[in-house]
Amino acid sequence: MAKSFGLEINPWVYVAKYDEEKRWQESYVEKEHLTPEQEERLSPIERAELMAKRNSFPELPLVNYTSQYGLGCFEGLKGFPQKDGSIKIFRPDENGLRMARSMEGLLMPPYPPELFMDAAREVVKRNKSLGFTPVYDPAWEKDDFLSAYSVYIRPFSFTEPGIGVNLSENPWVIMITTKVGSYFEPGTSKAITTERIRATAGGTGWIKTASNYVISALAKKEAGKQGYMETVFLDARERKYIEEGSSCNLFFVLKDNTLVTPALQDTILPGITRKSILQIARDEGLKAEERSISIEEVFSEAKEFFACGTAAGVSFMSSITHHGKEAVFGDGTMGEFTALALKTLKGIQYGAIEDHRNWMVDVG
Ligand SMILES: *Cc1c(COP(=O)(O)O)cnc(C)c1O
Repeated sequence: MAKSFGLEINPWVYVAKYDEEKRWQESYVEKEHLTPEQEERLSPIERAELMAKRNSFPELPLVNYTSQYGLGCFEGLKGFPQKDGSIKIFRPDENGLRMARSMEGLLMPPYPPELFMDAAREVVKRNKSLGFTPVYDPAWEKDDFLSAYSVYIRPFSFTEPGIGVNLSENPWVIMITTKVGSYFEPGTSKAITTERIRATAGGTGWIKTASNYVISALAKKEAGKQGYMETVFLDARERKYIEEGSSCNLFFVLKDNTLVTPALQDTILPGITRKSILQIARDEGLKAEERSISIEEVFSEAKEFFACGTAAGVSFMSSITHHGKEAVFGDGTMGEFTALALKTLKGIQYGAIEDHRNWMVDVG
């Protein structure tokens, strides 16, 4: 059984290289594999050896601007098994656009969104025909798909060789896929603010770039050591306004039922889950605001708190601790809007709720 976020790369991998003639040279690489059933029967050591081979790309340069300086961007999107045996990807067009914007933000040639869409579909399709993608299980319906599996697609850029600090002119774009279950381990759902600063005005917080995530990982580790599941970053200037979680956007429901999430600016990652939840809320006739929200306002006015992202899904938070004081939301279970957002998103993704917004794209 695949671990929640273990790295078991599926055999087919997509690789595109922006060549000297400014063309994207695409290829699909079939890495070493057995059948999924044979792989299940391998000993842990044999399995680890095979997985190491799948994650080895000797044709890519070891020393480059990505490996040395974190000059790289990435995406994360998911394909969901459907009842009819197909797999549908959630809003891949949005990920393709964001990947191109991220690459432009890093002053590298943007990877075209049309290529992104086709490659994401094709790489999932090829792994599906080998039997490596999860299959719909009606048992998932019993817990509204909380226990369901999906295909995680991770596209990322990788630069040409280089050792001096520099930007990239001829990047690669690679897409790997892997099976995932739910991201957050069951257990605590408490959050704590961090003194660390994830992003500053004029920085790269709005770009899904590798270099942003070291600070997130540090803060999350520190929160974990203190017994908290999530860390909450405050703004760099006043240390007062809510920004983001470790790698997820944050939402609050106020006592007057207004949904609030920090407005997009250059320190906030424009999450596609965030955008989708805002739309779901507005379609439901709820008041949804994108604006600054201070930690004091959260303490005095919020009744629900949740984090969201492709990996996190919709994760309710039971409390937030700031400077030693704790604000508790609800009775320790998910609030009303959080439950609605979770159920609606998962329902659309796994085909239990009609996708009238055309968010789902069949891999074909
Ligand atoms: C990826 C990411 C998110 C969530 O974006 P989605 O498109 O919803 O997956 C939020 N914050 C950060 C910092 C991220 O890297």
